Amino acid sequence: MDLFKMKSLSKGELHVHLNGLAKTNILRSLLESCTDELPKGFSLSSDLTRSTPASSLSDYLKPWQALRLIPRSRTDLSKIVDSAFAELQRENVKFVELRNSIIYISLLNGITVQESLEWLLQAIDELSTKYNITAGLILTVTRGEYAPEHLRALLEAYKLLGRPKSVVGLDLAGNEEVHPPTETASLFRKAKDDEGLSITIHAGETGKPLNIEEAIHNYGADRIGHGTAIIKSPQLMDLVKEKDICIEVCPVSNRLTNAVAENESHPVREMVEHGVPFVICSDNPSIHCSSLSEDYLEFYNETGNSELLENMFATQKKYSFIKGLK
Ligand SMILES: [Zn+2]
Repeated sequence: MDLFKMKSLSKGELHVHLNGLAKTNILRSLLESCTDELPKGFSLSSDLTRSTPASSLSDYLKPWQALRLIPRSRTDLSKIVDSAFAELQRENVKFVELRNSIIYISLLNGITVQESLEWLLQAIDELSTKYNITAGLILTVTRGEYAPEHLRALLEAYKLLGRPKSVVGLDLAGNEEVHPPTETASLFRKAKDDEGLSITIHAGETGKPLNIEEAIHNYGADRIGHGTAIIKSPQLMDLVKEKDICIEVCPVSNRLTNAVAENESHPVREMVEHGVPFVICSDNPSIHCSSLSEDYLEFYNETGNSELLENMFATQKKYSFIKGLK
């Protein structure tokens, strides 16, 4: 199988961050208006992308030093979402679960969290129709002391907007060494039980298998973002199989964050051997100067398994948080 074949496969995308998907040249043009706010020494021509393995997580996260400065208007947000959908169309993606943390949009634009969520949902609805790609939104909360406060604000906005169907889930992201207040986990579980929102947790990416276990037991995770550390624990691999919890595998990203070192084989090989449920996703393809098809190709190069890729669209539908996919 080659890249041309990978491109031609119909796909679903279950793990992609909006700001890491929109094309870099669009983001760069939006950032032109606020260059004076960029961190000292930040280069718009070279620091918005990452195509070689980072030396640390903060090194990997450098593009976000600029990305958190936009959008400065509703029009700019629509441009970002439009660019994201154009990229998905190029990859033959039929349905997508976009991730975004929303709160920075309200801070940048002096609007409420409810308004910023409404801006984003309207843009997603419009562009989903324009590009004929089914879309859902996952609300991302970052690990840290403000996690409970942010989650409450997001859930409040979601309720005030009448619980829009296009909001399909919640996500916890960020540095796994940082432990958010313990109530964060119970708030996730409560949102799952009371609101029917599905849960995915970035866990076991740069951290330990224990974080995956906590994501399942404490947060009620339905899926795990990255989860590369799972192969260190056969019991944990058995647990996700038993509970049918899907791992969102992002091969290109794992190399660039150094979650998987250059000289190691990718853990997805062992996931395949142990029958662990997984889907292939792209995480931040534009930042990686890559694409979902290139993640498929990486997977193929690691495993030589074309059958799983041929069936990947069905697997992605099975584990999607979007209800009623055909
Ligand atoms: Zn991610």
